[in-house]
Amino acid sequence: MKISKKMQNAINEQINKELYSEYLYINMACYFFDNNLSGFGNFFLKQAEEEREHAMKFFKYVYERRGSVKLKEIKKPDISFNSILSVFEKALEHEEYVTKSIYELVNIAREEKDEASLEFLNWFVKEQVEEEANMDQIVNMLKMGKDNPNFIMLLDSKLGERK
Ligand code: MG
Repeated sequence: MKISKKMQNAINEQINKELYSEYLYINMACYFFDNNLSGFGNFFLKQAEEEREHAMKFFKYVYERRGSVKLKEIKKPDISFNSILSVFEKALEHEEYVTKSIYELVNIAREEKDEASLEFLNWFVKEQVEEEANMDQIVNMLKMGKDNPNFIMLLDSKLGERK
């Protein structure tokens, strides 16, 4: 069954959000490289790569369902940061926004009794649990250790190992 126009349009919006996420995380990486924290920077570059993969999963799905992808403008992330903690708090907030957006797609799939999309979206529902948990864990660690330079250096080298 061909994908519905409504679902196709909603996924096209989601592709834009995933590509914006990529852009946002590159922006966060810039903040860290500017401040000589290349481990944190590396963490956000890997995060950005994942967002590109999310966008492409949606892209492939739309064409598998015989639909069409329409690209939209990606806005410039205009967030300036004042601390390491504030970056991770913004990242967590952003992932919560993306989760809501995925839930909206699930609702459309339910309304349309689109079983294929429900099955497909299930991967993203689970992925968002992981994304939020990862960011939340680092937010909590930073709340405890943000004033300890040794802790920051340790976390920087730990996050730099992310593959
Ligand atoms: Mg994503």
